Amino acid sequence: MAGKDELDDCDIIKQGMMVKRSQNKKRFMPINYKQRWFVLTTKNFIYYESESDRKKERGRIKLSSITIIETATITPSPSILSQQDATNNESENGYAFQISYSDINEPQYTLYLITQKLQERTDWLQSLRTVCVDNMGKSERYHLSIWGGKKWQCCRAPSRNSEGCEPCSEWNETPPNSPVIKNGNNNSPVLSLTTVNQIMPGNTPTAKLKDQVPRIKVVTALYPFKAIEPGDLTLVKGCEYEVIDDSQDHWWKVRDEHGAIGYIPSNYVKEKELLGLQKYEWYVGDMSRQRAESLLKQEDKEGCFVVRNSSTKGLYTLSLFTKVPHSHVKHYHIKQNSRGDFFLSEKHCCSTIPELINYHRHNSGGLASRLKTSPCDRPVPATAGLSHDKWEIDPAELMLLEELGSGQFGVVRHGKWKGSIDTAVKMMKEGTMSEDDFIEEAKVMTKLQHQNLVQLYGVCSKHRPIYIVTEYMRHGSLLNYLRRHENSLGGNNGLLLDMCIQVCKGMAYLERHNYIHRDLAARNCLVGSENVVKVADFGLARYVLDDQYTSSGGTKFPIKWAPPEVLNYTRFSSKSDVWAYGVLMWEIFTCGKMPYGRLKNTEVVDRVQRGIILEKPKMCFKEVYEVMRKCWSHCPEDRPSFRVLKDQLATVSQGLLAD
Ligand code: ADP
Repeated sequence: MAGKDELDDCDIIKQGMMVKRSQNKKRFMPINYKQRWFVLTTKNFIYYESESDRKKERGRIKLSSITIIETATITPSPSILSQQDATNNESENGYAFQISYSDINEPQYTLYLITQKLQERTDWLQSLRTVCVDNMGKSERYHLSIWGGKKWQCCRAPSRNSEGCEPCSEWNETPPNSPVIKNGNNNSPVLSLTTVNQIMPGNTPTAKLKDQVPRIKVVTALYPFKAIEPGDLTLVKGCEYEVIDDSQDHWWKVRDEHGAIGYIPSNYVKEKELLGLQKYEWYVGDMSRQRAESLLKQEDKEGCFVVRNSSTKGLYTLSLFTKVPHSHVKHYHIKQNSRGDFFLSEKHCCSTIPELINYHRHNSGGLASRLKTSPCDRPVPATAGLSHDKWEIDPAELMLLEELGSGQFGVVRHGKWKGSIDTAVKMMKEGTMSEDDFIEEAKVMTKLQHQNLVQLYGVCSKHRPIYIVTEYMRHGSLLNYLRRHENSLGGNNGLLLDMCIQVCKGMAYLERHNYIHRDLAARNCLVGSENVVKVADFGLARYVLDDQYTSSGGTKFPIKWAPPEVLNYTRFSSKSDVWAYGVLMWEIFTCGKMPYGRLKNTEVVDRVQRGIILEKPKMCFKEVYEVMRKCWSHCPEDRPSFRVLKDQLATVSQGLLAD
C-alpha cells in the first residue's frame, strides 16, 4: 500500500492520531488495536504507521465508498486505552466510532476507531459526514455495537450481514451560512471551512484564505414557480438564486439575477453544490420501476429514457422504452468497475453518469436502442400553502369547477386558485366539524409536506360553509381507482406493492412528526398521474362532531380498520394507524374488496378480539401477506413502525421483483 500518490497538503482536511481496531479481514487473525496516524483528504481517508512515517501507508478508504459514519460501542474495551492516563474529560475507554464502506469489489467492511476525547470523536464524525454528505450508497441503519463472532452484541442478530438495528444519523450537518470548499468527488460535497479551521492542526494557507470569504448559498430552480401573491418571486427552471433567508422550512427569501427579492417554495430549489444528477432532465430520483414503465409507455417514443434510483440503495437504473420487437420498457443497472467508472456494457466506461448517458446517446453500445429523449416535464410538486405565510384563502380567488365527489363532510369540487393552480375544494357541511379547532390546526397542517401526502393549501374560514382547499389529485380516491382498474391492476404485484410503499412513505412522515391519522383506509387515499398515491384527510377525524363516526359503537365508525385497543378503549396511536395500514394493504391487493365481506360490525369486533385476521388475498405473494400479518399483531407494541415497514417492504419488493 505504501508509496501511493503523494499528498498535497492543500487536500488535507483533518489529521490526527487514533486507535484502530483490526478489521479482521482474514478470518483467523486475533483482534488487535493499534495507534495509527489518520489523514482525511478531499478524496480519501488514509492511515499511516505513524505521524512521522508518512511513507508507510497502512490503508486507505475512498470517501465515495463510505456508507456508514456513526458512533460505536466496543465491549470489552480495548486494553491499549486502559493503559493510558485518564484525565477528567477523557474516558478511560476512549470514544469509539465506526466507518463502513463498500464498493463493487468489496463487501461491507467496518473500521472501528477510538479517540481519547469526546470532542475529538465529535469533530471526526462531523468532518467525515460533511465531506461524504452526498455519497450515493449511504446506509439507513447500522449496528451500534460490534460483531461478536456469533451474533451482533447490540441486537443479538445471528447473521453478520443482518441489517443494522439503529437508524443512521443525518450527514447534512454543515452549519448554515458557513463557507464551503468542494470535495474532489463529482457529485459531492462540501466541507464547512469553519469546521476545517477548528480542527486542522496548523491550518493550511488555502483554508485560511478561503475562510475570509463569507459564504453565499446559491440554489438552482428544479421546477418553475409562478409568483402570484405579492412578496413571492417567480422561479425559472434551471436559473440560480441567492438565498437571503432560509430560517423557515418551506418558504425561503431569495434574490434573482436581476436583484429582485421574494419568497419561493424551498422544495422547488436545490443548493447548487448538492445538485448532483438532479440538474438533468433524464434523472427522476426515487421513481419505482412500475411508475417509470407507465411514464415511458405513456410517452410512447423509441429511445425515450429515464435514470432513476435503483431499489438497491446507492445504485442507479436506466429505464428505456423501445418498440422493437414490440412496445416495452427495458431496465439496466448502471454498474461501476473497480476504478469507480460507470458502465452499462463493460466495453464503454465513463467517469460520470452524465458522460455515460451522452455516450449512449450516440451509440446504443448493447442497449435495445440509442438514448434519445426523456419524458417532458417532471410533475411539479405541491407547495406548502399557496404562498408564503398564507393559509387563509379568499373564496373570491377560487373558481369552482366540476364536482369531484361527495363524502362525509359534504361536496368536493375541482377548483382553480387565481386561474392557475388546480385545487380540490371541500365544502364542509355546517355542523359536521368543530370548525374553530380545525382552523387552528390547519395552520399546522399546511406545514406538513411530503410527496405522498395530499397537500393542504389552506382554508376559507371567513364565511360558511368553510372550505378546505387541498392539492388536486386527478384520479380521485384510491378505493374507486382500484375497483375501476381491477382488470389491469389485479395480480400486478409490482404495481400494487408500489402503491403500498408510497402510502407507507407518507405515513412514515406523519409518524416522524407524531401525527396520527385515525382514519387511514383506501377511501382516504387519492391517486394522481402515473399511479402516484397520496394519503389524505390526516388528523381530520379529531374534528368530526358526529357521534356515529367518532364513537367505536357508532354506525359510521371505521370498525373494520380498527385494532383491538381502539375498539376497547378508543386508544389511537401511530400503531393503530399501522393496523389500519395492514387493512389498507389488503384492500390494495384485493383491488378494493370490502374487508370482512358482509360481516356485521359486531361480528368483525368479535373476530378481531379473538385474533382472527383477514385472509391472504388470492393473487398476493406470501411475503407481502407476512407484512400485513405483522401490522395485525394484537399488541400495539408488537407492530412494526412505519419506518420499519418501509424498509421491510423495500426488501420484499427487491426480493420479489427484478429491478
Ligand atoms: P369526505 O372526507 O368528506 O368523506 P372525501 O375526502 O372522501 O370526502 O372526498 C369525496 C370524494 O371527492 C373522494 O372520494 C374523491 O373522489 C373526491 N376528492 C376528494 N379530495 C380530492 C382531491 N384532493 N382531488 C381529487 N378528488 C378528490
